[in-house]
Amino acid sequence: MPASLRLTRAQLEAVLGHARASSPKEACGVLAGDPDGTVRRVFTMENSASSSTFYLMDSREQFRVFDQIEREGLELVAIFHSHPHSPAFPSGRDTELAFYPDSLYLIVSLMYDKPECRVFKIVDGKVEEAEMVIVDRQGTE
Ligand SMILES: [Zn+2]
Repeated sequence: MPASLRLTRAQLEAVLGHARASSPKEACGVLAGDPDGTVRRVFTMENSASSSTFYLMDSREQFRVFDQIEREGLELVAIFHSHPHSPAFPSGRDTELAFYPDSLYLIVSLMYDKPECRVFKIVDGKVEEAEMVIVDRQGTE
């Protein structure tokens, strides 16, 4: 699993834009890239639960996206979702349904004036915060 999530301002804006557009429902998606956590592709996805308190990736869309990630020779770096009305911390359900121990989890909270973004490792029900690094286009800090 990558030690940190490394993404550009533009990639983060793509995540935030999807979160804002989906509000008051939760938004979700996948970040793919390099083993060191550098994001190359942002996949915004449908929340098939269509809920303001939890998310569920559509299984067919998920299959398509994961297949594309593999064909492009990338790795799953992080799964992201938004919390329209609660802090950027994994809910009990998020922790329970974190099926990808090798992936980071990015949560974006829209409950404050400024969006709050936090990254976590969720393994066997244990939540640990990880680092998010904003990089420029060349991948340097
Ligand atoms: Zn959540």
